[in-house]
Amino acid sequence: MLRTHTCGELRISDVNRDVTLAGWVQRLRDKGSLLWIDLRDRYGITQLVFDETHTPRELMEQARKLGREYVVQAEGTVVERVSKNDRIPTGDIELRVKKLTVLNPSRVPPFTIEDDTDGGDDLRMKYRYLDLRRTPVRDNLMLRHRVARETRAYLDSQNFVEVETPVLIKSTPEGARDFVVPSRIHRGEFYALPQSPQTFKQLLMVSGFDRYYQIVKCFRDEDLRADRQPEFTQIDCEMAFVTQDDILSVFEGLIKHLFKTVKGIDLPEVPRMTYEDAMRQYGSDKPDTRFDMRFKELTDLVKGKGFQVFDNAEIVVGICAKGCAEYTRKQLDELTEYVRRPQIGAKGLIYLQYKTDGSVKSSVDKFYTPEDLKGWIERFGANPGDLILVLAGETNATRKQLNELRLLMGDRLGLRDKNTYSALWVIDFPLLEWDDENQRYHAMHHPFTSPRKEDIPLLDTDPGKVRANAYDLVINGNEIGGGSIRIHDKPTQQLMFRKLGFTPEEAQKQFGFLMEAFEYGAPPHGGIAFGFDRLCAVFGGSDSIRDFIAFPKNNAGRDTMIDTPSTISQEQLDELGLVIKPE
Ligand code: ASP
Repeated sequence: MLRTHTCGELRISDVNRDVTLAGWVQRLRDKGSLLWIDLRDRYGITQLVFDETHTPRELMEQARKLGREYVVQAEGTVVERVSKNDRIPTGDIELRVKKLTVLNPSRVPPFTIEDDTDGGDDLRMKYRYLDLRRTPVRDNLMLRHRVARETRAYLDSQNFVEVETPVLIKSTPEGARDFVVPSRIHRGEFYALPQSPQTFKQLLMVSGFDRYYQIVKCFRDEDLRADRQPEFTQIDCEMAFVTQDDILSVFEGLIKHLFKTVKGIDLPEVPRMTYEDAMRQYGSDKPDTRFDMRFKELTDLVKGKGFQVFDNAEIVVGICAKGCAEYTRKQLDELTEYVRRPQIGAKGLIYLQYKTDGSVKSSVDKFYTPEDLKGWIERFGANPGDLILVLAGETNATRKQLNELRLLMGDRLGLRDKNTYSALWVIDFPLLEWDDENQRYHAMHHPFTSPRKEDIPLLDTDPGKVRANAYDLVINGNEIGGGSIRIHDKPTQQLMFRKLGFTPEEAQKQFGFLMEAFEYGAPPHGGIAFGFDRLCAVFGGSDSIRDFIAFPKNNAGRDTMIDTPSTISQEQLDELGLVIKPE
């Protein structure tokens, strides 16, 4: 090997050893008679030293000529440093170099490759391979590696089998848009890239694999949004002969194992909350439960007192922000501005200040007596010093708006610390979701999710009320995983497709293979998939999944390093029988 040690390895106990290191020149400090180089590799940084008393002049000159990011090999003796650096593990020693070999020179990098860089986002993405040399970026990928390794260790210990499913599959209209791949040999026909291995993992259950998992790439051609990647990774799992409870407990085990081994955290038992309660108490199906601040409804207390806004509202609902009663007029106006932003969409904000001296001041004092307002205070269990913030309007929209306000207040009060973790199972999701645009129901999870038995009659009378055996795992307000108990018989699956507006022919054409499989002894089964990139980001205390992907796409869905998507040659188009229509 070109080295005897790595750049992260040498300690005070190695003093006087002759060693060889290899790595990249991160930085060079030249004091004339003394010259230092920080030599970096994946494992760390070791300081090389050249000084007039020990270093021959030619070697000194050779060192002086090195540029940033040159790849060099350095042979020398480990010596104790005079001034130690306790911020790095190798900080007690340095290498007194006797021989230096340039293995490869480097152009001046487009940004400094240090923990804090001067490189902007775009530049770092274009030169991602250089960005990946930086310790914080590399650490993220090392974290990802550990999460993957521990996922496999846990699932293996639970008898799960990793099976690869195909990447060239069939396009189906359900769910998000597919990425399609034209077939050259079968002109005019297309493969699609999987949005998830859903049907394949169910077929593996029919095959008797019993416990399947795969850390797998999925592809969704969705509209661009910040921090959405067209390709992303799932921990995809399926089990046979299980109830919902079994699945929740096996995968709570996985999450606990990951927290323990990756973060050194003992995650307490994960509470369960129904979708309905989550919407009622947090206005979100992925509530951030690091802090309480649950919604309280005031609808019954506030109507009929002449305040039109409340009288006309379907719901009047609020939160209590502890210790915020002394907010200034300006601060309250800011909150009002916030909820009125088009992205949030509230018409206004009502507040009640329960001042520290016990007095009460609200923005609706004209309509409500001190006695009325006391009723609000009691509803929230508010204490002197607290601020009650209230929104009113149509139920779903108002809850969503209040959710945003709750998160903002959580931020302001420092209740969303990224090193604090709170997990939650949200269960009993609705089976169907009304799609206003297309005037039809969609499967909220996917069409293979089983309705709760007792709710099946509602499919005919009140489809929106049917609950599914579907669940999500939420951590710190992020949807980390989701799954369901599946339908495993043909008649129910047919019924489901019918309710989703498929003709029997369409259902047969797209999913006939699955329904046929159900006729050959399909065991009861269910599963879950975790968003692997998001899980890594949560563990890494980051909001951005991009930081945890080696070569991500940018927010426009492009990889600017390899410059894709890109056009293909006329010859390729001809071969595929494709004609590009002008816009
Ligand atoms: N395939 C589903 C998804 O990608 C997860 C599951 O139901 O297991 O969301």
